[in-house]
Amino acid sequence: MASRATDATRQTLAAATEHLPLHDRQDFEDTERGFVARSADRQVRAADGRVVWDLDAYSFFGAECPDTANPSLWRQGQLVTKDGLFEVVPGIFQVRGYDLSIMTLVEGDTGVIVIDPLISRETAAAAFALYQKHRGPRPVVAMIYTHSHIDHFGGVKGIISEDDVDSGRVPVIAPEGFMEHAIVENIFAGTAMARRAGYMYGAAVEKGPAGQIGAGLGQTTSMGEATLIVPTVDITRTGQEVVVDGVRIVFQVTPGTEAPAEMNFYFPDFHALCAAENASHTLHNILTIRGAVVRDAHAWAHYLTETIDLWGDELDVVFASHHWPTWDRERAVEYLAMQRDMYLYLHDQTLRLINQGYVGAEIAEMLRMPPALEAAWHTHGYYGSVSHNVKAVYQRYLGWYEANPARLWPHPPEESAVRYVAAMGGADAAVAVARQAFSDGDYRWAAQVLDHVLFADPAHAAARTLQADAFEQLGFGAENGTWRSAYLAGAKELRDGQFGTPTTAASADLIGALTVPQVFDSIAIRIDGPRAWDEHLLLSWVITDEHATFITELRNGALNHRTVAEPAPGSTVFTLDRATLIGLVTTTLALEAAVADRTVTVDGDPADLQRLVGLLAPVDPDFAIVTP
Ligand SMILES: [Zn+2]
Repeated sequence: MASRATDATRQTLAAATEHLPLHDRQDFEDTERGFVARSADRQVRAADGRVVWDLDAYSFFGAECPDTANPSLWRQGQLVTKDGLFEVVPGIFQVRGYDLSIMTLVEGDTGVIVIDPLISRETAAAAFALYQKHRGPRPVVAMIYTHSHIDHFGGVKGIISEDDVDSGRVPVIAPEGFMEHAIVENIFAGTAMARRAGYMYGAAVEKGPAGQIGAGLGQTTSMGEATLIVPTVDITRTGQEVVVDGVRIVFQVTPGTEAPAEMNFYFPDFHALCAAENASHTLHNILTIRGAVVRDAHAWAHYLTETIDLWGDELDVVFASHHWPTWDRERAVEYLAMQRDMYLYLHDQTLRLINQGYVGAEIAEMLRMPPALEAAWHTHGYYGSVSHNVKAVYQRYLGWYEANPARLWPHPPEESAVRYVAAMGGADAAVAVARQAFSDGDYRWAAQVLDHVLFADPAHAAARTLQADAFEQLGFGAENGTWRSAYLAGAKELRDGQFGTPTTAASADLIGALTVPQVFDSIAIRIDGPRAWDEHLLLSWVITDEHATFITELRNGALNHRTVAEPAPGSTVFTLDRATLIGLVTTTLALEAAVADRTVTVDGDPADLQRLVGLLAPVDPDFAIVTP
């Protein structure tokens, strides 16, 4: 059974394929257009020899679509895996296929502006080396981050150094609010998001025709070192213009779209628009399935209208930081307009149905996108989906509660599961129900029933096997790359055991960029509440390199913090710089050693720090998902 498509899955895929615009081959032309070269060196390695990116990992896409994959997602994989250096227009180049995201290079009078340096230092360096090999050793004259997601800045140190920026040689340009959002995303729910991202991107699932075949936005995330250099130029308003190395750049700020800090920008001399991640060759996420703060589809659509109004009558090409460009004014503007219509339709129609009394799960099944949108490729749900985006719109406006008090206070999953399974006549009888659903091709129902069995009896061997098989069929059928990866990741954990968190974003650079309030927030969310109920601990912190004083106060299990003019009377006072504070709270630095070498001075009881650190609970990057 495992790793083969059932007849029912084959029929589902055949029916779905009937509606695909297979005659439209424009994307295949566009992914080849401007091709300059691809690298003969097919693997990107870390300093220790570990492979962080393999350009041939998806070479199986050369074959016809197998029955274990949705043909629409397979097609997207064929397009996204075309790697190499490409000329967008004379003077603008892209390196594609080196990471989840792509890198754009804009040539000025003497050097080159780099837009979005991928996720890892290693992949960014390899992509930039390919560019330089064919365009000469041009110096980097500016770095631009389009937005605050790590696939748009993590590789920066593969291209420029901290010294390039500190010396003023290379400005780093980013939308206002970049740093706060780049860091916050990784602090509050970072551990859970990273574990869930292991499902969403299928990092632990073997790549292959019956395995991981991509995330729709790009193939997957690279596994190298994520770095960060703090921006030096903030873009704060639409219409702001910057000239770098003779290249004019006009910006449009788009906060609250695909990212909380994001911007589009236009190169008037090239008639080229960078749409950041606001328009790409997929229906994007209003809420990613790894989890995030829900996005605003209405604002997203509004900003795309503004983009068209600003530059629609002069642009000749639009490119983004994923996928391939769209050329020719008419085609490019229609592409932007359809992307806009897609988010607006999803938003408005979901609200129409909400106001008719439907809940998210119902609207997700009812809502059909307009035929003209379904007839285009870039509006398909390879990364976002109509299903989970509709639920995201519902969540944004109404939250988790559907107003039916029967669902206001249900038993939690394990308690529910025990009762459901008992009502079905026990685990074996429930598995029999699921087995029938499976043979009827109703994998969704099979998965729901087996979910209860596994939460009542996680060791039930037949339930584990059948649930893995049901997940696999759901994965094979999915047009959405993240759904497929999630299903196949669930199947893998049921068969082989938990794989934990294969990738982590908590690199030294990201931790080192925490502001003092963010450091205290990151401690506060790790306080073991019940153990701290009866503690009262007032500490003062003089941060020497910021000329600022903070107090933290733990009471009732909650650690609050604020800036003050003077240390709190009677409190222990730690005097140190921000980096030392980070070292102490991440325990990479011992207090005794820091006191001994005078990087910390303590006025009061040094043991107070240990009292605080001793109340922190460990995070669990390996928590169970498909079992309790
Ligand atoms: Zn991205």
